[in-house]
Amino acid sequence: MSMFDLHVHTTASDGHFSPLEIVDKARVYGLKALAITDHDTTNGIEEAIAAGKEKNIIIIPGIELSTDYQGKEIHILGYFMDYHAQEFQVKLMLFRDDRKLRAQKIVTKLNTLGYEILFEDVLVFSQGGTIGRPHIAQALLAKGAIKTAKEAFDKLIGRDKPAYVPRQKLTPHEAVMLIRDFNGIPVMAHPGLAGKDNIIPELTQSGLMGIEVFHPDHKLHDIIKYQIIAKENNLLITGGSDFHGNGSHSKSSLGVSNADYSIVTDLLLAKERLNNANC
Ligand code: AMP
Ligand code: ZN
Ligand code: FE
Ligand code: FE
Repeated sequence: MSMFDLHVHTTASDGHFSPLEIVDKARVYGLKALAITDHDTTNGIEEAIAAGKEKNIIIIPGIELSTDYQGKEIHILGYFMDYHAQEFQVKLMLFRDDRKLRAQKIVTKLNTLGYEILFEDVLVFSQGGTIGRPHIAQALLAKGAIKTAKEAFDKLIGRDKPAYVPRQKLTPHEAVMLIRDFNGIPVMAHPGLAGKDNIIPELTQSGLMGIEVFHPDHKLHDIIKYQIIAKENNLLITGGSDFHGNGSHSKSSLGVSNADYSIVTDLLLAKERLNNANC
């Protein structure tokens, strides 16, 4: 039974479906609560909230920030932050500007390697949303230069591959503090992917409030391990599908299996407590 999903991407970043389409799907799947967590943008949230009202689905405003730590990528999810705040939006705009520059540099590297794509080919796929490497992979696919998006990552644009360009460095601590500064709940996304569990207690000191225990890339032993780590550090347990839609790396569909809805009520309670503490 999957009643909720706290990690979903839309066309506002590198997801395949619009916020409206995602909410439609959530209704078909019978979800009661859904968080929109696009990369470096909150632009999909309003459309989802409006659709959620009609379809009686709780829409939780969220975000996913990418950070670097000891040569690995750590993603920080944020929930319920005051995303309308101008200073928050300015930060996100800077992150997106950096992604644009980075994508241009990746295209230049690809050109040097003999792959003839233009930055404009990438923009066709990002369609005004946050630009990500999946859009570059799509442009390469459209040119017939590769057979799958995964191949683009494995051969060219994945970390340490020849056309990879790092982003401007944001640390996990900075991302956690940014979410807290705007009264949000920071959660470490898919910790099993980074394999840097030693950072969890430190990040908790910086204000981390939860870890994403349920994620399609987590095996049963990861789920058990992160449940224990969450308990030890007094952290919330969350879960999501990281759904991106067709043609993406994520094999998952919407909804979290085998996880209790108390995950959502605990998150809502945590936000209420944060609000009360700020009063
Ligand atoms: P970026 O945000 O530009 O750093 O790109 C990271 C995004 O690329 C992730 O959020 C995924 O959506 C996607 N991604 C990461 N690894 C792969 C892969 N091996 N194959 C396809 N997509 C991937
Ligand atoms: Zn993504
Ligand atoms: Fe992620
Ligand atoms: Fe994600």
